[in-house]
Amino acid sequence: MPPCMPKTSPPDVLNSAHTAALQAMVGPAGLVLDPAGRAAYEIPARYAPGMAAAVVRPASTAEVSAVVGYCVREGLRFVPQGANTGLAEGSTPDASGHHIVLSLDRLVAPLEVDAADRTATCGAGVRLSALNAALEPHGLFLPIDLGADPTLGGMAATNTGGARFLRYGDMRRHVLGLEVVLPDAAGTVLRLSHGLRKDNAAIALRQLFVGGCGAFGIVTEVTVEVHHRPRQTAAAILVPRDADAVLPLLQAFEAEAGTTLTAFEGMSKAAMERAIAHVPSLANPFAEGIPDYAVLVELTRAWSPRQGEASLDEVLQQIAGDLLEREDGPLVDALFGPVEKMWTLRHSLSEGLRASGPVVGFDLSFRRRDLAAFRRQAIAMLERDFPDFALCDFGHVADGGVHFNLVGSTDPARRETLRHAVLDLAVEGFGASFSGEHGLGRAVQAAYDRYVPRAVQDYSAAVAAVFGQGSASVRLGPA
Ligand SMILES: Cc1cc2nc3c(=O)[nH]c(=O)nc-3n(C[C@H](O)[C@H](O)[C@H](O)COP(=O)(O)OP(=O)(O)OC[C@H]3O[C@@H](n4cnc5c(N)ncnc54)[C@H](O)[C@@H]3O)c2cc1C
Repeated sequence: MPPCMPKTSPPDVLNSAHTAALQAMVGPAGLVLDPAGRAAYEIPARYAPGMAAAVVRPASTAEVSAVVGYCVREGLRFVPQGANTGLAEGSTPDASGHHIVLSLDRLVAPLEVDAADRTATCGAGVRLSALNAALEPHGLFLPIDLGADPTLGGMAATNTGGARFLRYGDMRRHVLGLEVVLPDAAGTVLRLSHGLRKDNAAIALRQLFVGGCGAFGIVTEVTVEVHHRPRQTAAAILVPRDADAVLPLLQAFEAEAGTTLTAFEGMSKAAMERAIAHVPSLANPFAEGIPDYAVLVELTRAWSPRQGEASLDEVLQQIAGDLLEREDGPLVDALFGPVEKMWTLRHSLSEGLRASGPVVGFDLSFRRRDLAAFRRQAIAMLERDFPDFALCDFGHVADGGVHFNLVGSTDPARRETLRHAVLDLAVEGFGASFSGEHGLGRAVQAAYDRYVPRAVQDYSAAVAAVFGQGSASVRLGPA
């Protein structure tokens, strides 16, 4: 084989006794050994492909328990995987071929809706879209909104945030119960607080598994609180006076719209330009040219329009109109239109970015008051030290989140220097988080090692060790 060709066969991590034992546990459909069948499980959403020793796809909690216990006893390392949409490189194996992918994609039962309780219970492999389809006839939904279709197990494991965090919060706020399989020699199954909104009868252990990225155990079933679907929605694209006006604009909307404010998403000019250039179905909504920065704002109400009550469109126009009239106010322009049309630009940003070149991406989270100052200092640093990169940032600014994406050089050393410089400024300069909502994985391991205090790393590793061996792609303690 020429040296540049990637290897397609993993080393002999699994012997014939291993494969026979695993196949006996999960059946022929549950064990994937051939390269073509493995490929989809080896390619992460945004990074280079890895290689799996095998893909094991149990179809029930009992099978997960049997597989996990066996792997631990045999010293076989594994990586849990849901829909493989994660952005921290935690759901795929590395290139060594030493790790098994433990896919939960066949765990699609139960899928039960309890409309009276306003909860739903799902197998870890149930997709968000399938859950929402089952909830729709009841007028309910799980309001965690993102540009991917993850599994409920993956969402619990990464504590997914999304565009409506401002109003509804993350997965942690919705998980009312979990069933997990511990990565120990027995494949112990724990059922943690199923479906109760209040439960102080025991320590809320389940919260360790929410956001644990598989380091503490494998989620096999999730019970979530769900919400009534909004019956009224209005959206607009707002143009703030400048970057410093974004926070005052948000504060004004929080004060005037109250809990009807459900999304407030920031979009930089460069990110919008790339979406408009690369997504053929997207029309440029700005007649006067693309502004330096824009915000997608959404208001919703759970009830139908009432007689004599101003519609949400009127409320939104009123709030924006008052702000536009203010001398030196935070708002200089506002576009109104059908809700889906307003959201199209925001939803196209990731695709536009992907199409525009190699990206160095950051999932940063700040105290909201620091967002503008960080952006200003980062832009000055980029212009001075990294003119070969273009900043295409956007994000859930209402919760302090920013996807700080830089498009440019493919040189690995240069990209690494840039990564350090941005993270040093964000984490050390502003006390930001290097992983606002995407969780842990190989993509952020170096940042974890560098910025998470040693005592926190030590305690996290010690807690994980209580449960078992953890995931092969997430290391909580020092190397
Ligand atoms: C276009 C796009 C937009 C996105 N937008 C957002 C966003 O707005 N907000 C946000 O928070 N995320 C976002 N994401 C990231 C991603 O969709 C979420 O992290 C998602 O919750 C991952 O779920 P998954 O089922 O795909 O998990 P995977 O990607 O398969 O796994 C993610 C991590 O969880 C672990 N894991 C998976 N399943 C289990 C399980 N059952 N038990 C234990 N561990 C498990 C894996 O080992 C891995 O560490 C986006 C991704 C894409 C591609």
